[in-house]
Amino acid sequence: ADVRELLTSRIHDVPDYPKPGVLFKDITPLLADAKAFAVLTDVLADLAEQHGATKIVGLEARGFILGAPAAVRAGVGFVPVRKSGKLPGATLSQTYDLEYGSAQIEVHSAGFTEGDRVLVIDDVLATGGTAEASVQLIRRTGAEVAGVAILLELGFLEGRKRLERALAGAPLDVL
Ligand code: IMP
Repeated sequence: ADVRELLTSRIHDVPDYPKPGVLFKDITPLLADAKAFAVLTDVLADLAEQHGATKIVGLEARGFILGAPAAVRAGVGFVPVRKSGKLPGATLSQTYDLEYGSAQIEVHSAGFTEGDRVLVIDDVLATGGTAEASVQLIRRTGAEVAGVAILLELGFLEGRKRLERALAGAPLDVL
């Protein structure tokens, strides 16, 4: 409870960003606070260990910031899931629907080795579309999804329901 209070107090609500009517959750104050960032890193690394993860995937772009130090702390490798066209090697890609249009994410096929168990990390769960597509993408590489860990959910968007359906029993931790 203390941890949650520390973390949530360092996330700021920004009204009307990036467009009118949207309430944006800004995690940069948390990142700028050495204690809060270290606590968050420890919590994520503990989850990786609890779930038996052998790799951490971070979702572009804030999932990189949270996932990379957690991977180092947990002693596992880090694999980026990126927006289309940013990775130089052979990739698998996954398309998913947005409110208007669609988006595509990619991962290096060589990012995982036989038997890898992957913990997926991102900052915010909104519609759940990004996390759901990542779970599907990772499974298509042959790796197993050990779970998804998210700093914060925007509960009214029902992203959790959608993501839980995709996870099919694998754990979802919202801090
Ligand atoms: P979803 O696919 O609708 O669940 O959106 C989640 C993605 O959008 C994540 O990668 C988040 O980083 C980003 N996102 C959505 N809303 C916010 C927000 O309020 N603050 C920060 N990131 C957000």
